[in-house]
Amino acid sequence: RPPLDVNLIRRDFPILSERVNGRQLVWLDNAATTQKPQSVIDRISYFYEHENSNIHRAAHELAARATDAYEAAREKVRGFLNARSVNEVVFVRGATEAINLVAQSWGRANIREGDEIVVSHLEHHANIVPWKHLADEKGAKLRVAPVDESGQIILDEYARLLGPRTRLVAFTQVSNALGTITPAKRMVELAHAAGATVLVDGAQSVSHMAVDVQDLDADFFVFSGHKVFAPTGIGVVYGKEAILNATPPWQGGGNMIRDVTFEHIEYHDAPGRFEAGTGNIADAVGLGAAIDYVSALGMDNIARYEHELLLYATRLLKDVPGLTLVGTAADKASVLSFTLAGFKTEDVGAALNKEGIAVRSGHHCAQPILRRFGLEATVRPSLAFYNTCADVDALVSALYRLVSGRRPIY
Ligand code: PMP
Repeated sequence: RPPLDVNLIRRDFPILSERVNGRQLVWLDNAATTQKPQSVIDRISYFYEHENSNIHRAAHELAARATDAYEAAREKVRGFLNARSVNEVVFVRGATEAINLVAQSWGRANIREGDEIVVSHLEHHANIVPWKHLADEKGAKLRVAPVDESGQIILDEYARLLGPRTRLVAFTQVSNALGTITPAKRMVELAHAAGATVLVDGAQSVSHMAVDVQDLDADFFVFSGHKVFAPTGIGVVYGKEAILNATPPWQGGGNMIRDVTFEHIEYHDAPGRFEAGTGNIADAVGLGAAIDYVSALGMDNIARYEHELLLYATRLLKDVPGLTLVGTAADKASVLSFTLAGFKTEDVGAALNKEGIAVRSGHHCAQPILRRFGLEATVRPSLAFYNTCADVDALVSALYRLVSGRRPIY
């Protein structure tokens, strides 16, 4: 495929023309959420203008259209992840809800006293808190795979943590705080060799790299639509079909049952059994449109382009006086994290905002990994395929002005 034509791509994202504090927006907060192409915005409008109905239940035309659109989106997710079957794709609100679903359904049915749940030091709070709740409830133990100075998981130490008591391993494919790409496939293999079930958090990976759940062989894989150019409020639990069908439901309600009496309830097979009540139909359809968009660009193309941009940004940021990059793993997605000597991270964020540059500053809901590096907060620019070297230049110039005490020239 030809390389990405980023100037053309940028025209697909109306918000990138927004002006902030008198400057054109430079959106470098993609790890928090991504912007939406016009095709996604249009697809959601089209749904409400022409297809809106509740799904499955009614026998009228719009119910059929809405059901078709919703199920077509499920098929797009299946293809995006290379799952074997659409029955392995459960729609939820986002990665957080996805992990809670697995913890509360699979976890409650399978974790017992004395069992061990292994997570990594890199995890987002969303992949720590639900497991800690479960471990406390069941009398199980949470164990943590350590990382080295570069922010990469130490495989030997991870392997040593795995044993007959390990029931579940949950870890991220890409760290939201440092950008580390973990050796996920090898970690799944090692966990399976120890007899454990594995959940991979794909919240930060799906926008940066091609994901193949069959190749990865994770038992569960979760992500949020909003981090992959789709709307908020929609996300996915992928689970191997046999495991999903052997797992009790989480929430109870309409849609997820085959038969209800006051004495006995029969549930649907997956995915229905995990989709109680009216789901986020329109935004699932929007997620389908986002998958169409990134698939047309090609995830491998996106990964290649972002890698070049990451190298460029890393090279320029390193030279800013007083700037220390945190997270220097050889394998990284385009997320950068840094501190600036003499400046609080929130002051750096505020100074950049004055120039229309959006970055995240704070703990990024990943306090354990920042504390591993003796930090409470970092500044985190995170890049997507619509970012350019000019965006990086704007960031770096603003940082030079900040450290030299000069005011921006407009
Ligand atoms: N895991 C990781 C690695 C994340 O970066 C995030 C979002 N910052 C989440 C989980 C939670 O995603 P959400 O807030 O969309 O549920």
